[in-house]
Amino acid sequence: TPLPDYLTEVLDTCGGDDGGELAAYIPELAEADPDRLALALCMLDGVVYAVGDTDARFSIQSISKPFAYALALADHGLDAVVEKVGVEPSGEAFNEISLEVGSGRPFNPMINAGAITVHSLLDDERVRAGFSAFAGRDLEVDEEILGSELETADRNYAIAYMLRNHGVIDADPRAAVAGYVRQCSYLVGVEDLAVMAATLANGGVQPVTGERVVERWVARQALSVMTTCGMYDAAGDWFTSVGIPAKSGVSGGLIGALPGKGGFSAFSPRLDGHGNSVRGVQVFERLSSDMGMHVLETP
Ligand code: GLN
Repeated sequence: TPLPDYLTEVLDTCGGDDGGELAAYIPELAEADPDRLALALCMLDGVVYAVGDTDARFSIQSISKPFAYALALADHGLDAVVEKVGVEPSGEAFNEISLEVGSGRPFNPMINAGAITVHSLLDDERVRAGFSAFAGRDLEVDEEILGSELETADRNYAIAYMLRNHGVIDADPRAAVAGYVRQCSYLVGVEDLAVMAATLANGGVQPVTGERVVERWVARQALSVMTTCGMYDAAGDWFTSVGIPAKSGVSGGLIGALPGKGGFSAFSPRLDGHGNSVRGVQVFERLSSDMGMHVLETP
């Protein structure tokens, strides 16, 4: 079967499950159409395939985290970033109010505590330009989603106050959260996400524009933390069943990067208890078993 037909068939078989819930803690996300479903794939020669609700635009949310991490690594180097944010899976939910015992750092850059800290190493314009370079087009913030999340951001404020109290960030906690939530509010579609994931899978070179966005070691570092921490407290489950570096977001997006092969993305807004897209996870499980994507599969 031609690839687009195969991808459509994957969507059809995963489309029936209406389990999971919208991310109601962000009022604007609770308004999303829960039935939308899309899937995209970007090969490293720059060819993109997308099926389903490919016109749907949604906020990038936590899928922004590996890309912001990559930009911070590129700007500050590995040592400076690792001094502030660790690389250990926390086994906790994305919004856990916790720091590593001993080092006093956030566990990793994929949970909110780590992502708010990473964001404090960047500025809004660097994030805008960097994310746009990964996507290969000018991305824009959805101000409604940004405003909506800021109205209910007490938990992230609590995390940011904890970070400043422990000297992890110097910035005003409210400004730190505002910047981080802005980073989460960039609008994307599945094709953007597939291309962004493919850039990491391609060692930092954007496969459509040909631009080197980050160095090879930066892409490897971002993929490493996606592998161990990208799916939060479901990271082990994900890695055993799907077996590729990945990142989810509470608006229902999900990316996977297969090094040297391509970038994948899915979008479906209903979430499981970990905050990962229910149908997105199913789409990836199906792709992984059909295409033998697990990176630890013996040849
Ligand atoms: N902006 C969201 C938050 O901080 C992102 C969380 C996510 O996508 N898991 O709560």
